Amino acid sequence: MDWLKTIEPLFKEPLVQFFIWLALIQVMAQVFLDRRIAFWISSISATYLWIKNYEVFTPIKAWLIILGIFFLYLLLKYLFHFNVFLYLKGRKRCPVCYSEVHIKATVCPYCHNKLKDAT
Ligand SMILES: [Zn+2]
Repeated sequence: MDWLKTIEPLFKEPLVQFFIWLALIQVMAQVFLDRRIAFWISSISATYLWIKNYEVFTPIKAWLIILGIFFLYLLLKYLFHFNVFLYLKGRKRCPVCYSEVHIKATVCPYCHNKLKDAT
């Protein structure tokens, strides 16, 4: 259980605590309310409660991190045509028929288009 002692100071960071609150409220909203609005419920309520009870700087830092990750995802998707979620699923998108195919496929199984960037 030594690893608990090494990550313990991490949980005293307000930023980590804010993200834990965000995740907890998100899970509760997904289970008990509605999955589609859970993100908005958790982000608005966590930010509001944190600003009301603690200070303003932690939510601002947290939202800058979240927006930074989101911006990186959009940058990869639209500038480099690399979809992280498809890659994690082991798939890629056929440029002709736009269907998901296996990441190692050399020919699209739906439209028989040759995929040039086969690895
Ligand atoms: Zn295709």
